Amino acid sequence: MKRVLVVGAGIQGLVTAAREHLSNNQVFILEKRKRIGGRGTSEDSFGHQLEHGPHLLLKGGELHTMVKKVSKVKPSLRPIRPHKVHIVGHGMLQPLNNPKKMLAFKLGQDPVREQAIRLVSGWGQDIPERRKALLKGRLCVVGEGWSGLVGRLASTLEEVGVPIQTGMKITEQYDGGVITSKGLKIEADIVRMCDGKPVGDPVKVSTLDVILDNKPLKDLHGIIKGDVAILNLAAIHSRKAPGMSHFSCIALSGGVEAIEQLLDERVSGWRSHIITKRQNDSITLTDSRGHLSDGVI
Ligand SMILES: Cc1cc2nc3c(=O)[nH]c(=O)nc-3n(C[C@H](O)[C@H](O)[C@H](O)COP(=O)(O)OP(=O)(O)OC[C@H]3O[C@@H](n4cnc5c(N)ncnc54)[C@H](O)[C@@H]3O)c2cc1C
Repeated sequence: MKRVLVVGAGIQGLVTAAREHLSNNQVFILEKRKRIGGRGTSEDSFGHQLEHGPHLLLKGGELHTMVKKVSKVKPSLRPIRPHKVHIVGHGMLQPLNNPKKMLAFKLGQDPVREQAIRLVSGWGQDIPERRKALLKGRLCVVGEGWSGLVGRLASTLEEVGVPIQTGMKITEQYDGGVITSKGLKIEADIVRMCDGKPVGDPVKVSTLDVILDNKPLKDLHGIIKGDVAILNLAAIHSRKAPGMSHFSCIALSGGVEAIEQLLDERVSGWRSHIITKRQNDSITLTDSRGHLSDGVI
């Protein structure tokens, strides 16, 4: 049995800790913030769970597999259906009823659809396994939200006696341990750095998440125009705002204004039906493949 110190209680840290525990190591986690989950969080607003932009879980990926392994009840997942996502002026994301368009798409001769797929599956980044998963119905909305997944991992770790110490910032790593910002030396046989350091080039995007008290898009899963996407989580997963709309939107350029423009264009009167909303003008995203093998972005 080795003493393993995990630095960071984001998704990667929690999955790593669970993996190390399952390998019979003695694990402990140190987290610099007061709360756990890192960027993998959702917030409660007027009884609705809002995230920043559409968070889609890769079914069968590392995070999903670990959550399933440690939970008694399976997480509730519903896939986004590409044949229910409309690309403005171009048809459905997966044109099932149009063999000619399907063929062009399969032969890689449809750059508009390719771009739309990259937007939904990897927020503009090309992540082959997530792109494939979207087309195969394995990119899913999580009923309990991202924070629900974090909660499941954290409560299992607590149950099996893996301590998570918050408010502890690691400033230095040495052979055989780490040093905290308060100068405390903590020894460990193995240190796993899960501090969310970017791997690829960062990209800035904007998001808007909004709950409406009506269903103007009916059962449509989403609308895409250029590099702006509106996903309707309520149409994808029945647990999200039943009887209402839960739009989770992202714009790779043009800011929140570009999202609002598309909403004005396609969802007339949406502003007068808002129950709650959250927007973020500039979120930095980095490709984190290599950290978690399911290509979380
Ligand atoms: C808006 C947005 C939308 C996203 N959508 C999706 C999606 O749809 N699907 C998907 O798979 N992924 C998505 N992601 C990405 C996913 O949320 C992240 O890839 C994932 O949360 C990263 O986890 P992590 O543990 O590597 O890093 P982080 O979440 O950044 O966690 C790192 C943790 O380490 C702590 N830490 C850092 N430095 C120290 C230190 N020196 N000492 C102690 N603790 C430290 C931090 O406080 C933090 O808690 C999205 C991310 C964002 C921001």
